[in-house]
Amino acid sequence: MLQNASAKRVYVETYGCQMNVSDGELMEGILAARGYTIVENPEEADVVLVNTCAIREHAERRVLGRVSQLNGLKRENPDLVIGVTGCMAQRMGDDLLEKAPFVDLVMGPDSYRSLPQAIRGLDDKPQERKQLAVLAFHSEENYKGLEQRRSEGPSAWLPIQRGCNHRCTFCIVPYVRGPEKNRGPRDIVEEVRGLVKDGVSELTLLGQTVNSYSSEGIDFPDLLREVARVHGIRRVRFTSPHPIDVTPRLVEVMAAEDAVCEQLHLPAQSGNNRTLRRMLRRYTVEQLLEKIEMVRDAIPDIALSTDIIVAFPGETEDEFQDTLELMHTVRFDDAFTYKYSLREGTPATRLPEEDFIPPDEAQARLEQLIDVSRRIQAEINQDEVGRIEEVLIEKCGRHKGQVLGRTRRNKVVVFDGDPTLIGEYRRIQLERTTGATFIGAERLGSVGAVGV
Ligand code: SF4
Repeated sequence: MLQNASAKRVYVETYGCQMNVSDGELMEGILAARGYTIVENPEEADVVLVNTCAIREHAERRVLGRVSQLNGLKRENPDLVIGVTGCMAQRMGDDLLEKAPFVDLVMGPDSYRSLPQAIRGLDDKPQERKQLAVLAFHSEENYKGLEQRRSEGPSAWLPIQRGCNHRCTFCIVPYVRGPEKNRGPRDIVEEVRGLVKDGVSELTLLGQTVNSYSSEGIDFPDLLREVARVHGIRRVRFTSPHPIDVTPRLVEVMAAEDAVCEQLHLPAQSGNNRTLRRMLRRYTVEQLLEKIEMVRDAIPDIALSTDIIVAFPGETEDEFQDTLELMHTVRFDDAFTYKYSLREGTPATRLPEEDFIPPDEAQARLEQLIDVSRRIQAEINQDEVGRIEEVLIEKCGRHKGQVLGRTRRNKVVVFDGDPTLIGEYRRIQLERTTGATFIGAERLGSVGAVGV
């Protein structure tokens, strides 16, 4: 058995959404607390965990390829433990162990608390090691009392909710992450205070439908207000909200609290009511537009982004055109665009076969959508050239001598500067745009003065 954890080195490689990145940090935190050393590349590790995403077929294929590559490492080092965790592990379970016999462990997102025991339970002698699948759902598991191992810096992602109570017909999440589980508000605020002590000033609250949060009589607007008022927190964002829970109270808090950024990611998914109904999104285009109007009335300078899926089974050309019309009507600052991807186990797989859109047509719709969305983005950003914005510097830019940061409205800005600026706020004038990104220059003055 792998008894001496302190001698063990673990490498965690994460794919997929920010929730998964956060889970990767949670696994590292759990293992580090048990004496494991976290290493930065798989060649140095005794245990490699591939933390996976199941949202699209393409993501799964990529992970399967990566896991096969890691088998090469195992041939050099037969003692190496390979584990697959996360949504794809939960979805494929025993099938994955069968398809990839060199994988020792599969573990779903509700079981990370038992990760150290599971690794310890694997036999040290590779020829005697039995594959292990840990896939139970735990309806109360919100990882209370466990700490993530975060990288240093002024920005942190803070999970406040796991799982989802919706059943959008295209989505695998409820089947791999289980029903919604919310953390207690006191724990969350306590953690925020701890993060501030560690130097964090920008926070993103995370949840699958983050604004449906409710725990101990506190709902999401209450929690957002509490978090925004923690001394030392300068920026708060949240993702991803569900449109049906964008309420007047939430918008009121967003508008009233200085720390809440003027930015909202609002997944629309489609601009056609029949498609939205068949996706089980629980709102109509008209209701979505009303919500957007409410947000823009309260926060006129807000930057809006969205997610759109094209070629959902049965989507007609006219219905797709409705989505393009929505893009023109709302003029989102940014859009994450996808082709429908069939996921085994989701309700949409039961739609009649003839409804499935041929790949060429789906690709053509995606390209049209990207084209429209990029043109709108470039026009909006061109209009914003000349503004002076507060930028939080995140990392070095692609070119030497440049750094990259984000405005409160989540716009990416590159400007001349050295790496010592990383983590600082600066006052930057947006001088030009490439379409999606701004090129700026630092201006003297207080970083409090923005949006000129
Ligand atoms: S709200 Fe819908 S799309 Fe979002 S995670 Fe839940 S089921 Fe998936």
